[in-house]
Parts: sequence; structure tokens; C-alpha cells
Amino acid sequence: MKSNKYKPKQHTEMEFGGTLGAGSIPVFLPLLVLYLLSVCRSPSGALQQWPPPLPHSSFLWDPVATVIVVGWIGFQSALYLLPWGQVSEGLPLRDGSRLKYPINGFHALCATAVLLCVCVCLGMPLGFLFDLMLPLATSAITVSFILSFYLYLRSFCARDTHLALGGNTGNPLYDFFMGRELNPRLGSFDLKFFCELRPGLIGWVVLNLAMLMKEVELRGFPSLSMLLVNGFQLLYVTDALWNEEAVLTTMDIVHDGFGFMLAFGDLAWVPFTYSLQASFLVVHPHDLGSLAALGIVALNGVGYYIFRKSNSQKNQFRRDPSHRSVAGLETLSTAAGKRLLVSGWWGFVRHPNYLGDILMALAWSLPCGFSHILPYFYVIYFSILLVHREARDERLCRAKYGLAWDSYCSRVPYRIIPYVY
Ligand code: NDP
Repeated sequence: MKSNKYKPKQHTEMEFGGTLGAGSIPVFLPLLVLYLLSVCRSPSGALQQWPPPLPHSSFLWDPVATVIVVGWIGFQSALYLLPWGQVSEGLPLRDGSRLKYPINGFHALCATAVLLCVCVCLGMPLGFLFDLMLPLATSAITVSFILSFYLYLRSFCARDTHLALGGNTGNPLYDFFMGRELNPRLGSFDLKFFCELRPGLIGWVVLNLAMLMKEVELRGFPSLSMLLVNGFQLLYVTDALWNEEAVLTTMDIVHDGFGFMLAFGDLAWVPFTYSLQASFLVVHPHDLGSLAALGIVALNGVGYYIFRKSNSQKNQFRRDPSHRSVAGLETLSTAAGKRLLVSGWWGFVRHPNYLGDILMALAWSLPCGFSHILPYFYVIYFSILLVHREARDERLCRAKYGLAWDSYCSRVPYRIIPYVY
């Protein structure tokens, strides 16, 4: 007889606006991506234009763009499969087993950089990607829809232990959006882990570089603003891939199923909206003074320091609480067995990593000046995302740790920004 021990209970609580959210977000967000890209290229660059600068259908689709997107995902898949880098285990699943993951994202980034250098040396005008941005985005959106349908259908063949707790409501629209299966795999190829940090994240910095090359084509040299945006975001992506193992303990991998929300986010939203500042600067150059540039570099440095230190501290604590870098920190015991940090970064605010991330997001927008709101789209959207994410995490932690979580909250009253929020 099949054991029901690990079967997830039919989960009826819904997030992201329930059925309405799950039905409208997959329509609204892809249109928003295309709209933002169109505004970015329009001479006025204003979000509030009427009629809106909608792209002509002939600018939305190009078979070359589809070949590039599919080829890019294939190339990154091949790099993922190469036997380089270490293999790490994820956190225990509900049945106690642990999955293995190849930690070779940084190798993939380096291999991609070598390939790009070869392309540039051979005279390939990388700047042509600027002209293809809309059809590239359309193709990436299409791929994310196809992948999400595939993920939804295959989840019905998955074992109960492999289903996510949150995407198992029985409501097809909601489950398609949230993702039913926790760690869908083709053999040892983990689809969610691959999509989290490879095609979209590396694609983002490649698009940034293409925008820089386009600027060189148009004006003969890259502007300081463009160099800062490229440098900051390359640092962020390199850091994520260098510390790839840390993604194994994040909410996306441990808790959320793989459905439209993550597939679209990873493959379309991240590369095409996170590169908006670089796209914007191609059409709307901004002269940045050296003093302003220094201030922005300092802001990014402070944000990065908080982000990196706090994430590393928690990861180290979760992996090995006896490690000398975390052994001296004050902790709180919980009925669930795990301990919570109440000093160090996690005693400063309850999500210091989000604070660092928001400061960096602001530093990525400032090089574009104050003439338009569009380059600030990222920091506005990202702050909303992190406030919402913090509330989700808070709910999960309260369910996991009960009274101990309440004690933590009274010890560390602020969520993200000390004395403000
Ligand atoms: P976090 O790394 O913030 O992890 C939250 C988990 O940490 C909790 O569920 C809990 O899990 C554990 N935790 C919380 N408080 C404590 C404590 N006091 N002591 C010990 N453990 C604690 O989750 P995210 O995945 O949201 O964020 C990871 C990073 O990714 C962040 O820097 C974030 O800004 C970034 N991010 C970036 C995005 C982007 O698009 N650029 C999108 C989303 C996130 P448990 O107790 O079970 O270990």
C-alpha cells in the first residue's frame, strides 16, 4: 500500500491574490515587460505617454531572436552538465533524502565570458542585441509559458513527497502559477536550480554588455553611467554565482514549487527588466560627474557589504553552527529543533540581506539621473517584492517556529530598515 506519511495536505491557503492573481499576473507581467522595453526605446522615455508607445507586431517577433534564446538556453544547459566544480547536497526533503546539485555556475559565467571575448574579437557586433530586445523578450516569455505548461503536466506523475506544499490547492490556475512540483528533474538535471541562476542571470549581464557595445557603436565610447551600471550588476551576478551553493537554502529552492512564477521570473523578467537601466542609457545618455559617481560607488559598496555579510552569516550558521565565525553569536532555541540568530546581522533587523539588496538597487538607478522614472522601476518594484517576500517568509517562520518566532520578533522589532520598517 502507498504510504501517505509524506503526502502534502491539500493546501487551501492562497498567496499572490489567489485565483485572481494567478489568472491575471501571467497576462499582465509579460505585457508589462514588453511595454517597459518599448518605453525605454521611445525618445521621450516617459512612462505616462498617451497613446502608449506600443511596439508594432513586426517588432515583436523575429525568428533570429528565437534561435538566439533557444541556443542560449541550450548552451547554458551544456555548461551545467559539464563535470566541473563541486557537487553539493540540498537541505533534507520531507522524506529525509537530499538531492545533489552541481555547483558550477561561476564556471559557466567564466566560459560565457570567454565565448563573448571570442565573439567580440571576431568582430561580431554584440550591440545588435539592442535592436532585438523586444523579439528576444517575446521569445523568452514564450519559452517560459511552454516550460510552465510542461512543468504543470509532468507534476501529475511526480511522487507525493516531491510536491511543494504551496502549489497543491487543486485549483489548476493557481497551481500552474505557483508550481506543483518542488524539484522537477530530467535525470539528474534539476530544472528549477538551473533556471534560478543560469540562463536569466547570466543573460542579464550579457544584455547589459550588449547595451554598452551599442553605446560605443553610437557614440564612440562607453559613458561613466553605463560603466557603473554594468560594473555593479556584474558584481551582483558574479557574487550570486560564486556563492551559488547558498541558493540551496533559499525559499525558492526549499519551499516554492517550480511553476509559472519562477519560470517566467527567471527566464524573462530578470534578464529584460533588470537590464532596463542599461537599455535606457543607450537612448537617454546621462552625464555623471565624478563626485556623484563616487557617492554612488560608496552606496553600492555599503549595500553589497551588508548583503554579502548577512547572507554569509546565516548560511554559515545553517550549515555549521559550530564554525568559529558564528559560534560566538547569541541564539534562540525553537521547538522545531533549529536555532535562530538573535545577534550579529540577524539581530540588527530581521532581514538585513534585503536592506543591502535595496541599497544596491538604488545605486543601480542613480547613474541614470533624475530626468525619468523608468530607471527607478527596478528599485521600486524590488522594494515591493522584498516587502511582500518578507511578509511571506514571516508567515512561514511563524508556522515553523511558533512562540520562538514571536520572541525573536520582540527581540528584533524591525523587519528591514532599522527604526523605520
Ligand atoms: P533569506 O535568505 O532571507 O532566508 C529566509 C530564511 O532564513 C527563513 O525562512 C529562515 O529559514 C531563515 N532565518 C530567518 N531569520 C533567521 C534568523 N534570525 N536566524 C537564522 N535563520 C533565520 O531568503 P531569500 O531567499 O528571500 O533571500 C536570499 C537573498 O536573495 C537575499 O539577499 C535577497 O535579497 C535576495 N533575493 C534577490 C532577488 C532578486 O531578484 N535579485 C529575489 C529574491 C531574493 P530557516 O530557519 O528554515 O533556515
